[in-house]
Formats: sequence, structure tokens, C-alpha cells
Amino acid sequence: MAANSPFDCVLLDLDDTLYPGDTGLGPALRRNIDEFLQAKLGVSAERAAAMRVELFRTHGSSLAGLIALGYDVHPDEYHSYVHGMLPYDMIAADPQLARTLQSIPQRKVLFTNSDRAHMKRALERLGVDEAVFDDVVCFETMNPHLFGEAREEERAAGGDPPVVVLKPSVDAIVAGLRVAGTNPRRTLFLDDSERNIAAGKALGLRTALPKKLN
Ligand SMILES: [Mg+2]
Repeated sequence: MAANSPFDCVLLDLDDTLYPGDTGLGPALRRNIDEFLQAKLGVSAERAAAMRVELFRTHGSSLAGLIALGYDVHPDEYHSYVHGMLPYDMIAADPQLARTLQSIPQRKVLFTNSDRAHMKRALERLGVDEAVFDDVVCFETMNPHLFGEAREEERAAGGDPPVVVLKPSVDAIVAGLRVAGTNPRRTLFLDDSERNIAAGKALGLRTALPKKLN
């Protein structure tokens, strides 16, 4: 534990936090989501773009919105399309970031809404060893009910569509805190999203909106 530090743990977002928001990956991601929505729902490009914005606002992501609306979309199908084809070479290696992370003595938890495959590819491009983090909270760890037998059981039971857990929902922040394993007041949460930061703050986390970590 770091002596004289007000923090025992740092929760770190990945996208647009560990790497800059202007890599060009964001527009590529939005294009992929729009294409996915067009193909899945048979809507125009304009309608898909409007839906993406609305689903993000109301449900946290297009995937969460589609599932909430009752569409049968497997997360892997969505992620392999919208993330799988991203131009990852737009993320530059960042040796300084790798050194900065190594030098942080507190417990470090990567806390991302993204799926594990995307996380691994982004970290690989950055030159950051996943092992520098003590733990990871990602799409799959927040949503075990959407995979494997748990998913089949939920589908067989019928009823309402499953809820997708993503920041900034309370359940997601609680999942992050559980893995952090520390008092929220002694946990620093870094995320480029103002609404994620607001949600963390509401649950007692100390927060910062970094432009970029280093
Ligand atoms: Mg982010």
C-alpha cells in the first residue's frame, strides 16, 4: 500500500482514457455500429445513426438498447462486428503510459464497458501488459448472465429481456467497487465520460476526468 496516499485503489477506464480520444477509432466504431444496426434492423443509414445516439442515451450502448427492446443479439456477434473490424493500428504504442502504470503502487483495476477481446487488442497496441492490472472489470465480467448456460436458462425462462450492465448504471459501478475491494472514498476512478464520473461520484468514489493519463 502506498504510504501517505489518500487512495488504496485506482479504477481506470480504457477507451479514450488510457489512449487519446482523437485516434480516429471513435468515428470508425460509430460507423461499425451504424452498419450493424442497418443490417440487423433493415433501417437506413440515417435512421441507424439516430438510433445509435438514442440507444446510447437511454440504455448505455446500442447493444444494451437492442437487447432491452427484445432483439435476439448475442454480445459476441455485436462485439465481433463493431470492435472486430476496428483499425487498431490507429492506437500508438505508449511506453510512458506503461511506465506510469508500473509506477502506481496502489491496486489497479481496469474498468471498461468494452469486451475482453477489444481490451486485449487495445492494450497490445499501447504496449501495456494486462498483468500490470491487479484485476479487470469488462463487459463479460459485468454480464455473465448473457453468456453460456446462464443465457440459455434466461432465454428458456422467457419473461423480460435481460438487463445489460454497463457504466454508468449503479450495478456496474457496484461491480467495479466490489473488485476494487476498498472503501469508495479511498478509491480513485478515472474515466473520460462525464456521466460515468457522475455515477461514480454518487456512489462515493473519488473521481477525475483525465484528458489522458500521462
Ligand atoms: Mg472511455
